[in-house]
Amino acid sequence: MADRYQVVIVGGGPVGVALGVELGLRGISCAVVERYPEPQRIPKGQNLSQRTLEHFYFWGLVDELRAARVMPNNYPIGGVTAYKHLMSDYWYTPPGRETVQSFYYEENDRLPQYRTEAVLRAKIATLPSVTTYFGWNADSIEQDADGVRVRIVETGATSDGFAWAGFGPEEDVSSDAAGERRTLEAAYVVGCDGARSFVRDRAGITSSGENFEQKMLLAVFKSRELHEAFSRFPEVTTYRALDPELEGYWMFFGRVDVGEGWFFHAPVPNDTDRESYDFQALLNRAAGLEFRAEFEHVGFWDLRVIVADSYRNGRLFIAGDAAHSHPPYGAYGLNNGLEDAVNLGWKLAAVLNGWGGDKLLESYGEERRPIFWETGQDFIAVGIKSDRDFLERYSPERDREEFEEQWKGMSRRSRIGVYEPHYEGSPVVCGPPGGVSSAHGRHTFEARAGHHLPPSVLSSGRGVHEALGPDFTLLAFDANIEAVAGLEDAAQSLGVPLVVVRDSYAEGRAAYESRLILVRPDQYVVWCGDAPPEGVSPADILRRTTGTSA
Ligand SMILES: Cc1cc2nc3c(=O)[nH]c(=O)nc-3n(C[C@H](O)[C@H](O)[C@H](O)COP(=O)(O)OP(=O)(O)OC[C@H]3O[C@@H](n4cnc5c(N)ncnc54)[C@H](O)[C@@H]3O)c2cc1C
Repeated sequence: MADRYQVVIVGGGPVGVALGVELGLRGISCAVVERYPEPQRIPKGQNLSQRTLEHFYFWGLVDELRAARVMPNNYPIGGVTAYKHLMSDYWYTPPGRETVQSFYYEENDRLPQYRTEAVLRAKIATLPSVTTYFGWNADSIEQDADGVRVRIVETGATSDGFAWAGFGPEEDVSSDAAGERRTLEAAYVVGCDGARSFVRDRAGITSSGENFEQKMLLAVFKSRELHEAFSRFPEVTTYRALDPELEGYWMFFGRVDVGEGWFFHAPVPNDTDRESYDFQALLNRAAGLEFRAEFEHVGFWDLRVIVADSYRNGRLFIAGDAAHSHPPYGAYGLNNGLEDAVNLGWKLAAVLNGWGGDKLLESYGEERRPIFWETGQDFIAVGIKSDRDFLERYSPERDREEFEEQWKGMSRRSRIGVYEPHYEGSPVVCGPPGGVSSAHGRHTFEARAGHHLPPSVLSSGRGVHEALGPDFTLLAFDANIEAVAGLEDAAQSLGVPLVVVRDSYAEGRAAYESRLILVRPDQYVVWCGDAPPEGVSPADILRRTTGTSA
């Protein structure tokens, strides 16, 4: 006898567990299968964007997340970039995420990924529709027209606490290490099973991108000496050294705490192994001084920027690192993975609850894939290449004056302001004619179809985000009464859950530049204006945005 769920999630890393929370809060029955009983203690995935904190707000977990921080409250989240090594005379602190703060409802934060996972796991334990199989491995998946069957086996898997599913020759849990077996049946399966995704493989989904043929080291260590040496800088959390010999790849220290906890990554020769390589010497080179590191973990991954060619095959979906993997340059991984979970979560729930169409499910990949393709190419790979070009072209040894001039220019460069993922080209958004979904955009307080809803304040003093419903919300600011009634009636007849928020069109709300704004469950605007355009009925708008139009 198989256990039956609406959704089975394979992989209970941060993205799988977040998807479980998203679906569980929507009352969808689901199982989360994760091979390790406990989150792995690699302090990766630390920099959480403002948008990610918005997800935690809607999951009711902001206070819990902030309480799980390791860094002191209000410790600045920023980074130093130095030339060659961190004792160099040339260093700067580039503009950070604070530059876009006012466009989001929550502030960004920083904590080790295993702490974030613990917050999500605690929440999932309270959700009655979610069953967790932590310590179980999925080892076979079959789909047909009626559903999907996933075979799972209790692994009894143990690790040193530092196992991870990044690209590279890391562990693999074999199914013969087996305990109890079960078969889970579901309408849909989502693979949140990391870069070497088994679900992606079984779904026959190929990937494209760039393999840099470069081995990377990840070390976790303790050193108070390093903390003291870095007191030459303002308080920041990351320290990046650009050495011309490393062709644009970073040597990178990240704080785990303020005092002694660190992680480090850097390129290493491709034949490096744990036994013969002098990791301490590499750390000294990056720091620009000799210090003692007490290593807790040393691992490797291969530097690639790879995106799956499709995020779906029939009833199988992939999300997070299973769909896109890349080096941790710019904190795009977990933040994008959580956005995948939120994007897919409400769509699966809408379809399973009967008011969303299959086009909505199809739109998950249509929206998310171009964003990550551009993130990988235009923000990560281009960043590596432009650092490489800079280091090849300018050098203080060759021409100090020219180098200093260009280094100053580099210190002012930031791409954070133009990273504004949007779905203008989505088939389930009433976007502008010829709109194309893209990671490139601009931040503004204007409401725009296909874009994240910027914050504003209602006349009651509450934030607009506090008034949003769990499903669709219509913001109506001194709006045409007939147009509001038309949308309400259409929602009722189509069975689309809709909350209407009425207020005056004045103060901050006028910055939206629309009296009617239709917002979907992931806080993206799907339509806005003062009334539906000529020839378009409210029902047309709702059918399109719920993927139910013919
Ligand atoms: C050094 C470093 C620093 C980083 N810093 C940042 C940052 O600051 N910000 C950011 O946004 N991102 C960052 N990232 C990226 C981030 O860590 C990843 O994007 C994130 O872990 C992806 O989460 P995931 O749940 O998709 O995959 P994973 O974390 O890889 O989780 C996948 C899970 O699936 C499980 N699994 C795999 N196969 C099976 C199976 N067959 N059955 C059952 N379970 C299975 C694995 O055990 C694992 O727990 C960093 C990464 C590194 C390496």
